[in-house]
This record gives sequence, C-alpha cells and structure tokens, in this order.
Amino acid sequence: MPESKLSDNRRAGGVLALAGGVGGAKLAVGLAEILEPDALTVVVNTGDDETFYGLHVSPDIDTVTYSMAGLANPETGWGFAGDTFNALETLKTLGADAWFGLGDHDLALHLRRSELLRSGMTLSEVTLDLADKMGVQHPIVPMSDQPVRTIIESGDGEMSFQEYFVHRRSEPEVTGLRFDGADSASPSPAFKAALGSADAIVFCPSNPFLSVDPILAVPGVRRLVAAALVPVVVVSPIIGGRAVKGPAARIFETLAHKPPSALAVAEHYSGIATHFVMDNEDESSRQAVEALGYQVLVTETLMTTNKHKIDLAAAVCDMAGVSV
Ligand code: GDP
Ligand code: CA
Repeated sequence: MPESKLSDNRRAGGVLALAGGVGGAKLAVGLAEILEPDALTVVVNTGDDETFYGLHVSPDIDTVTYSMAGLANPETGWGFAGDTFNALETLKTLGADAWFGLGDHDLALHLRRSELLRSGMTLSEVTLDLADKMGVQHPIVPMSDQPVRTIIESGDGEMSFQEYFVHRRSEPEVTGLRFDGADSASPSPAFKAALGSADAIVFCPSNPFLSVDPILAVPGVRRLVAAALVPVVVVSPIIGGRAVKGPAARIFETLAHKPPSALAVAEHYSGIATHFVMDNEDESSRQAVEALGYQVLVTETLMTTNKHKIDLAAAVCDMAGVSV
C-alpha cells in the first residue's frame, strides 16, 4: 500500500495541508476524519529532525503520525500514549546525557526508521511505511528527503532546534533563524506533486517561524504556493494574542518586532495566502486582515476535542470550496 499512496494513480486535487507538530497535527486529524485518503496530503516540517544515539528522530512527523493513528499521548499531544522510559533510564545509568525524552516505543520507531534509511529508502518512503504500519491511511509526507536543520540564533549563541526547545525549554531569546541545508534541498516528490495538483492548500495552526517557514524555505515551495491558483488557507495559531502552547507568541516579539496577534500572523503570510481563519476572540481585527486582501472566517479555532478538530476542518474545507 505505501507505494500506491505515492503513485501517479492518486487522484489529482484534494487538500494539501502543511503542518508542524502538535498544533498542526490537531487540524490534520480533523481533515483526515472528513476527507478520503486520496483527497488529503499532510506535508510535515523536518527542520526539527535530529540524531540522538545515532538514530534519526523526526519529532514533527512522529507527532502527526501518532495523532493521525490515534496513538498520541492525549495530555501532551506528542509522544506515544502510555509509553514507558526504561531504555532512557538505562541510557542515563550508562552515562548518557539523556535530556531528550525518548520513550521505549519512540526508540523502537527511531531504530526502525534509521534501519530503513540505512537500507537506502528515502525519508518519504520510510515515513509512509511506518505510518502505514501504525494504521494511518492518509499520506504523511516529509517536506524534503534531504536534511534541512533549523538553527536558532540567540543571545546565548547558535543551537539546534531541539537544544533550544527541549534542552533549554525555549528560554533563550530567539534573535534569528536559519534553515541549514534548505538551499540544496528539494521538495519531496509527493509534496511537489501535491503542490501542482491540490484544490486547496491549508497552513495548519502551527508555529509560523519554526514549523511553517522551514517548509516554505525549501526551494520553489514559497513561489509555488504564492502562484497557486487555488485557495491558500491559514488557520491562526495565535488566539487572543497568545499561543495555545509553545514559544510562537514570544518569537513574534523578538523576530517580527510586533505583538503576537492574529493580524501579525496574517501579515506574516501576506502575499502567499488568500484565506484566513481567526478565532472568535480576534473578531476585532477582522477588517484589518481583510484589508491585507484575505477572505476571512471568524470561528472557534481552539481544538480541545475531536469534534472541534472535525468542525474546524469542515469550516476550512467549506471556505476553500472543497467538497467533503
Ligand atoms: P510543535 O512543532 O509541536 O511546536 O507544533 P506546531 O508548530 O504544529 O504547533 C504549535 C502552535 O500550535 C502554537 O503556536 C500553538 O499556539 C498552536 N496551537 C496548538 N493548539 C492549537 C489549537 O487548538 N488551535 C489553534 N488555533 N492553534 C493551536
Ligand atoms: Ca516541531
């Protein structure tokens, strides 16, 4: 089945969703509930990928895969529900500086991913195969099969994304971002195909700087999205001036030099997106976002239940004219 998911037999059209981790995965789950497997492609950020203990870890792909498989830890939105940490504890007793919380199930996944990559499969092929084994029917696709690494520039120097986000708990002030390897990367084959055939492109409510911008930094992607003749719908990850979770709000201050808001998100994507979904809490900025040229939908965008995810996905599809 994995090969057929990427084959030329896939129906042209459908929704191309761009996602990071936890926020993106929530909308991806909603979209997968209402769209057939051949009508949705979820393209995921790999700028957060890192090697731990010699293993290839793809945190955002894993979050999206676990979520779409119904296997994610419901408390955190990431990690495998009910995972144990025996291997990590043993690693610590063996002297490892084990600051990245890898559960036993996670480790098995990373072992298998790394083994398949070493055998010569691409990250696209491996991602599809592993998602298939976990029961996911909709294609999950890395943004690129070549390595792209998000580097955080901060007052404390440069560091990898995981060093910043996990080890340093997003505490350093982000003064700049770099996507190492992006210049020589290309969009993965299924991403490229979806860019050319989608009926709508959806930016899930993911961190604009750390999750969506790396995807747009892959050569050709920003240009193809901007030139797409189909609706490009942004779902705001900022609600009432706050991020639901994570450092997005603070990064607006330090990188974009403006307070975090739905309007600031709309400005960030101005010129490449056409439609904007903001929360009821942000209704007062509707006109300002419309003045940027967006078609705007104001609705409930906080997804705390499966019904919220489905309702928001249905609203996004309706706005984009995609029949479900
Ligand atoms: P990460 O890679 O795990 O950090 O995940 P993402 O980049 O995909 O998501 C982080 C963003 O999701 C944050 O900016 C949150 O504000 C946003 N987010 C999380 N949950 C929700 C939600 O239920 N609704 C909306 N609108 N945004 C959300
Ligand atoms: Ca991430």
